[in-house]
Amino acid sequence: MSEALQILQKYWKHDSFRSLQNEIIDSVLSGQDTFALMPTGGGKSVCFQIPAMMNEGICLVISPLVALMKDQVANLQKRNIKAIALTGGIRSDEMIDLLDNCQFGNYKFLYLSPERLQSDWILERIKNLPINLITIDEAHCVSQWGHDFRPAYLKISNLKTYFPKVPFLALTATATPKVKIDIINELGLHEPQIFEKSFARKNIAYMVFEVEDKLFRIEQILRKNLQSSIIYVRNRKSCLETSSQLNSLGFKSTYYHGGLSSKEKDKNMQSWMQDQVQVIVATNAFGMGIDKADVKTVIHIQLPENLENYYQEAGRSGRNGEKAFAVLLTSPSDIRQVESQFINILPDKKFLNEIFVKLCNFFQIAYGEGIDEKFSFNLNQFCLKYKFPVLRTYNAMQFLDRQGVITLSQEFSEKISLQFIIPSKEVMRYMSLNPNDEEIVLAILRTYPGIYDMETAFNQPFIAKKSNHTENQVQAVLQKLKEKDIIEYHAKNNDASLIFNEIREDERTISRVSKYLENQNQLKKEKLKSVLHYIGEQNVCKSKLILNYFGEKTNDDCGICSYCIAKKSAKTDIDKLSKKIIALLKTEELNSREIENRTKNTSNEVIFAIQQLLETESIIVNSNNKYTLKR
Ligand SMILES: [Zn+2]
Repeated sequence: MSEALQILQKYWKHDSFRSLQNEIIDSVLSGQDTFALMPTGGGKSVCFQIPAMMNEGICLVISPLVALMKDQVANLQKRNIKAIALTGGIRSDEMIDLLDNCQFGNYKFLYLSPERLQSDWILERIKNLPINLITIDEAHCVSQWGHDFRPAYLKISNLKTYFPKVPFLALTATATPKVKIDIINELGLHEPQIFEKSFARKNIAYMVFEVEDKLFRIEQILRKNLQSSIIYVRNRKSCLETSSQLNSLGFKSTYYHGGLSSKEKDKNMQSWMQDQVQVIVATNAFGMGIDKADVKTVIHIQLPENLENYYQEAGRSGRNGEKAFAVLLTSPSDIRQVESQFINILPDKKFLNEIFVKLCNFFQIAYGEGIDEKFSFNLNQFCLKYKFPVLRTYNAMQFLDRQGVITLSQEFSEKISLQFIIPSKEVMRYMSLNPNDEEIVLAILRTYPGIYDMETAFNQPFIAKKSNHTENQVQAVLQKLKEKDIIEYHAKNNDASLIFNEIREDERTISRVSKYLENQNQLKKEKLKSVLHYIGEQNVCKSKLILNYFGEKTNDDCGICSYCIAKKSAKTDIDKLSKKIIALLKTEELNSREIENRTKNTSNEVIFAIQQLLETESIIVNSNNKYTLKR
C-alpha cells in the first residue's frame, strides 16, 4: 500500500482515493507545479494535506475566506494534525508568537489570506519557515474574469522568488477556460501538470420551471421527495418566511443565514444534518463544511447571481450518487425584476468613495489612521444613519473586502451597553434597600468607573464571574434596574465585524481599487446573462448548458433534465396521436382538418404527426387529397 493511502486511512478514515486525488498527490510529491480543477465535493483538501504530511516541513495554504480557513484548521485539529490560521483580528504580537510556533512547533499547516502576505514583516518570517508546499486555494480569485477577483492574489507569484524549489498547487472548484489560463499565468506556475475533473454530475437532474405559485410547486416537489432538501433564497427575510410557510403546510423545516448567532446556526444545521427536519431554507451563507450525502433536492426560488454559485449550490444534492434534483423556480416577474435586483445595485466609483468615507466617519477614523482596527458592525444601522440603499452598500463593502481595503466577516454578536442615569448617592440607597443585588451592582460600578457619565459596553459573563453570580442573575438585576429607571440599557445586535486593513487615505485608496470596479460590474452583468440564458434557452439540455458554460464539450443529452423530460413526453404525445390517426384511417379517409376535429389536437401537432407517418410510409395521400393507410 502506498504511504499516501496509509495516511488517508489513518487520519481521514477513507478506504480509497477519489478520482484524480492520487494523481494530484503524485504530481505534487514529484515537486511539480500543479493545477487542479475539482468541482465541489471532489475532495480538494486531501490533495494538498496528504503530500504535506508526507514531507518534512510546513505547508503554506493561501485562502481568501476567514470562515473557510477556520473550518479547515478545525478539521485538521480534529484529526490531531497541527495547523493554524493567521486570520484578521489577531494582534501583531500574537501573530509573531504564532509564526514562531510554526517554526519551532512542528506545525504542518499555516493558513493565511493573500492580504497578509503583503505585510513585509510577515513575509520576512515566512521566508524562514521550512515550507514544503504552497497551496493556493480558490485560485480563481487571481483572475479578473473570475467571479471573485481579489487583487492580492496577483502578488502570490512573488513567492516563487523566495521559494524557487517549492511546488505550487493551485486549486479551484470553478474555472471557465479563460480563468484557467489566467490562473496558470498570474500565479506563475512553471510547466504545471493539469488535472481537471469533469463538471458532469450524472445523477443530478437539472430542472428549470417557470411557475406562478412557487410555494405550491415546492410543496409538490417535497411531497414527492421526502428526503433531505435545501431551499436557497436570496435574503434573510425570505429565509424565515419560507421556512414558516413550509412549517404551516406540515413540513418540518429550519433555516440558516449569516445573521444568526453561531449557536443558532449550529443548532439549526444539526437538526437538519440529523434528519430531525426535512428542509433547511438558507441563504448562500450556507454551504461551507456541509457534508450531507443524502440531499435529494436543492431548490432555488430566486435567480442565482451566476452559474458558478448555482453549480456549487445545486451540487450539494446527490453526493451519495443516487438520483437527485436541482430545481430552479422562476416566475415571469423575476426576470423583469432582474434589472433592479442586480444591475441597479452595482456600486459606481462615486458611491464607493462615499461609502468608504462614511465608514471611516462612522467609526471615527481620522485621516492616516485606522490600520488593523476591528469594529462590530451593523449594516442596517449604518445604512439608516446615512440613508444608503442596503444592497448597493453591501455590494460596495464586498468589493472593498475583496480589494483588501477592509475585512468584513459575518459574525453575530450580542453586545449590551448601559449607563446609570441617577446620581451615585441614590444608587447607594438602592443597594442598602436591596442587599441581594449589592454584589452585582458593586461589581459593575468597580469595573466600569465611567458608567455614570456615558453608555458603556458591558461584559455580562465577566460581571457574573466577578460577582459570583450566574449570568441569569446578572440579567435579572439589570432588568430590575431598568424598570426602576436607574439604568439605561441597550442590547445591540451586530451581525458582522469589520476590520480596516489600511490607514485611511480616501482618494488614494479608492482610486487604486476603483480601476477594477467597472470591469467587475461588467463581468457581473455578463454572468447574469448566462444565468438568464440557462433558464431561458428552451431547446438545449440543461446539463449540457452548464457543461458548456464551464468549457466542457459534450454531444449527449443527459436524458433527465427538464428539457430532456419535456422532449421525451412531447415525443410520447406525438406517438400516441399517430396511433390515434392510424385507428381513424382504418375506417375512412380524412384530410388534416377532419383529423384535427376528431382528435381534438392542435393543427401543429396533427401536421407533425402526419409528417412522421408520411415519412415512415405508414400513410399516403390519395387522389382526393385525403390521407389513407398504405396497403
Ligand atoms: Zn438533459
